[in-house]
Amino acid sequence: MKIIAGNWKINNIPKETTNFFGKLNKLFSNTHAKTSNIIIAPPYVSLQAALDSNNNDIKIFAQNCHWETDNSHTGEISVTMLKEMGISGVILGHSEQRILGECDNIINKKIKTVLEFGLNTIFCVGENLQEYQKNNSKNVIKSQILNGLKNINIINTSQNNNIIIAYEPVWAIGSAQTASLEFIREITNFIKQIVNNKFVKILYGGSVNSENIQKILKISDNINGVLIGRASVTPEEFFLCIKNT
Ligand code: PEP
Repeated sequence: MKIIAGNWKINNIPKETTNFFGKLNKLFSNTHAKTSNIIIAPPYVSLQAALDSNNNDIKIFAQNCHWETDNSHTGEISVTMLKEMGISGVILGHSEQRILGECDNIINKKIKTVLEFGLNTIFCVGENLQEYQKNNSKNVIKSQILNGLKNINIINTSQNNNIIIAYEPVWAIGSAQTASLEFIREITNFIKQIVNNKFVKILYGGSVNSENIQKILKISDNINGVLIGRASVTPEEFFLCIKNT
């Protein structure tokens, strides 16, 4: 079953989150669709509302975390806090965090902590427009993956079940411009070769919506799902994405 993950970014306050799940639960109740392959990542303040109003087995993820679980880190959220709440995993390495200065080394520390505490991660990689135009996508992605997963034993089954890599070309995020199907196929095959592990799942993200989702998921067996931003924020559009898979 393909993974359908929604990244809400800074959308949906707690009240809207409760309404979202109320509507989504209703939409699902009229179908036989499974929900164990669905992930939703609300902003921190709406995580509890999502956990409380999720009647299905949709996995609730956070959009970030700190790599330490104690010491002084004003304004941060630890993995142990997320685990205690019942959060299943964390999106890490998103380009919108990398743009703010998050480097491979920090992402690597965060992934290690998330795995150490038994949570899952959607680890995002992807080249920016300039790198894409210079034909440098593969070098950038390879270095992000090798650095992000440095000293992590992805051959270890208990850990590698927890790592999902999302290929998100930065130029395709929120731009209404997806990468071509051929390019997505080439890069996701390349990522599969780098990790060399059949248990690591690979998602594509970048302007996925209910109209293009089917074509993207059909590209190859190396695409295990999608990470959706804008089209995951309303229950109607997100449900349509799921229905159209
Ligand atoms: C994202 O932010 O991870 C994303 C893929 O956004 P969008 O679908 O809006 O391009």
